[in-house]
Formats: sequence, C-alpha cells, structure tokens
Amino acid sequence: MRIESLRERLRSLGAKPGHEQRVLRLWSQAQPQDKGRRALEAFMPTALRNELPALVDELAGLARLQSQHPGDDGSARLLVALADGQMVETVLLPRGGLCVSTQVGCAVGCVFCMTGQSGLVRQVGSAEIVAQVALARTLRPVKKVVFMGMGEPAHNLDNVLEAIDLLGTLGNIGHKNLVFSTVGDPRVFEALPQGRVKPALALSLHTSRADLREQLLPRAPRMSPEELVQAGEAYARTTAYPIQYQWTLLEGINDGDDELAGIERLLKGKYAVLNLIPYNTVDDLPYRRPSWERAAAMARHLHRLGILTKLRHSAGQDVEGGCGQLRARAERPERP
Ligand code: SF4
Repeated sequence: MRIESLRERLRSLGAKPGHEQRVLRLWSQAQPQDKGRRALEAFMPTALRNELPALVDELAGLARLQSQHPGDDGSARLLVALADGQMVETVLLPRGGLCVSTQVGCAVGCVFCMTGQSGLVRQVGSAEIVAQVALARTLRPVKKVVFMGMGEPAHNLDNVLEAIDLLGTLGNIGHKNLVFSTVGDPRVFEALPQGRVKPALALSLHTSRADLREQLLPRAPRMSPEELVQAGEAYARTTAYPIQYQWTLLEGINDGDDELAGIERLLKGKYAVLNLIPYNTVDDLPYRRPSWERAAAMARHLHRLGILTKLRHSAGQDVEGGCGQLRARAERPERP
C-alpha cells in the first residue's frame, strides 16, 4: 500500500488536511491505540469516524510481528509478516535505531548476501515501510531509521522517498537520522537533493576496484568507485552531513594493502565516514571475515591518513539480517 493511496482514501471520507495529518502522525508514531483512537475521533466527519476502527486495524495488519530474535548487544531481529503473507526482516538496533526492509528479496545479487541469492520477489509499499516503524515503536522508542534491510532502496525509489517524507515530517525522526543506503544509482543522486526531507546517505562501496565491484555486486548500476564518491561528495556538501561509506570486509578479497591504497586515493580529504564491517559468515556462502586484528590494523592505518574510519561490530550471528551484512550491525564503533 502507498501512503498516497491512504491519503486519497482519507480525503474521500471527508478528511480535511488536519485530519489527514493527525491520522498519519498518530499511526507513524504508534501512539497507544486507545488514546490514539480517542484523539483521532475528535472533530472528525462522521464517514471518517465510522471507518476509523477498520482503518486502524488495516494499518496494523500491514506489518505484523511473527517472531522476535534478541541478540546479546541490544539488537533484535524481527520477522515481520506483510498483509499478503510475504515476510521481511526488521532489525531493532541499539540506541533507538531501526533497520527496515524496502523490498522482498533483492535484484542486485551481491555475491556475499543471502537476500541477493533469491532475486526480487516484490516491492515493499511506502505504507508497509512506515508500518515497520510503527510496529517497532510498539516495542521500543525509535529515533533513527536506516534503510539497510532486505532490498535496494534505489530500486524502489518512489516508495522509499514517500516513506522518508512521512517519517521526516510527521513521524518525529530527524532528517539526518533517516539513512538511505544504496549501492549507488544515478537516480538517487538526482532525487535526494530535491526532497523536502533530505536523508543521510550510506553508499556501499566494498572495494576501490571497478572490476572487483562488478563481480561482487553483479547487477548494481555501473558506477565506478570514483563516480560514486564524486556524486556522494556533492550530496554531502548539499546536506552538510558526511557520507557513510560501507565496506563489508571479506577475507582475502578486499582486505589487502592494495585496497588501503585505493581507499586513500578515493576518500582522503572527503566529507566522509568509512564503516569497516567484518563479514558475518553465512553457512551456504564461501566468504569469510578477516581476523579482528587485521580489521583493526586497517582502521588504524586509515585513521593515520586522516580518513575517519569506524570498525563496526556486526550484531551477532543470531541477529544477522536479511541483507546479510549491512542491516545487522550494531552501531558500536571500536577504537582503532
Ligand atoms: Fe541487495 Fe543489499 Fe543484499 Fe546487495 S547486500 S543483494 S543490495 S540486499
């Protein structure tokens, strides 16, 4: 379901802009239902008031909790059923973070990601994205939303931008606490600067070599690492918050000294944070994480070069998210 069709339905029931905003605000902020219903019903047209209980139930049905898998670091992976029975994963992160899914499956096909192995099943509607936030807020407060779950947000751009707009206006999430995460797509760099809510941007870089990137992310748009960083830098200067470059560390593949030199070439002097994320090993895939010592040495080296680098603990294997790596990391930087 799209947020825009929800708005149209409210209007057809006689909702004025104030009613529409109140319904969307209370829903996205997951106000307690009784209190919310009483507040919602005050001063509303009769047709809308009569329809409201069914609508509230319908919105709750957009994302229902199937199961919850807590990790040992404050993370928890939620298995969430959408109205048609499709499942996505939503991850509660420490310190009020939430990772949401934007697609069922994913077409990018990153070779190290379980979600990428299954291809795209369907898009997640903008209302279903906000419903994941509303569901999480029934469990704990949410102050930050990262779009790093199952799916590539750039491949579902209209829905993701609609959800970002609602969360950043009525959903009580600060704009830079909305993090659009992408493998990089020219449409993203065109669309994001035009929105009234400008999210922070995380770019999945993973390697400084164009040929290796094509192997690791076989169906990502063909943007070279240089083009990605150039476009990212322009957006960082527009928004005045740094780009987060994501680098999933794969042993023997992108953890060598050649890559350190490549990172220096790409990111030195840029308005950027580099997140090194040691890979969460997946049974069915042949990739391995490098030793923690190697990862820490890489972070130390880059720090000495003046590149702001954070070494991220992945949330434990037990809360590994559908995106395989990017979605299920705790935001717990290690000192290099
Ligand atoms: Fe898609 Fe993200 Fe998995 Fe790549 S890592 S296949 S972009 S879900």
